[in-house]
Amino acid sequence: MKKITLLFDIDDTLVHENINCFKKTKITGALEGLSSDYKLGLFSQGFCNIQILKLKVANLYHFFSKDIIFISHNKLKKLNDIFFAHPNIIIIDNSKAVQKIANKLNIKFVLVSSRTTKDELVKQINEISKYP
Ligand SMILES: [Mg+2]
Repeated sequence: MKKITLLFDIDDTLVHENINCFKKTKITGALEGLSSDYKLGLFSQGFCNIQILKLKVANLYHFFSKDIIFISHNKLKKLNDIFFAHPNIIIIDNSKAVQKIANKLNIKFVLVSSRTTKDELVKQINEISKYP
């Protein structure tokens, strides 16, 4: 049974915005493998329709469970409620501001950058998920 939910940010975590399209980041290569061990969801900022469109264009949307998609204009305001409803989460995000809040709330967090590879991401997630 998949007990742990991975909640991914979208902008500069899963996709980079280019002039006329959305380009996948390096870590997206890890989604297929991760989906066999973890539930995959979204924790992202902005207009829900636009954010989901980015993932559809990048052919990534099918990896995510529709019941754990949290997209809003001020996502940090929602984090406490999401954590209360889903205590077994790991947030994956490129934002240090989000990392700071997650640390305060004792939520597991993996910081990614444009240099993070799929192997590094999987290693970090597996490492962090071992501890209660
Ligand atoms: Mg971001």
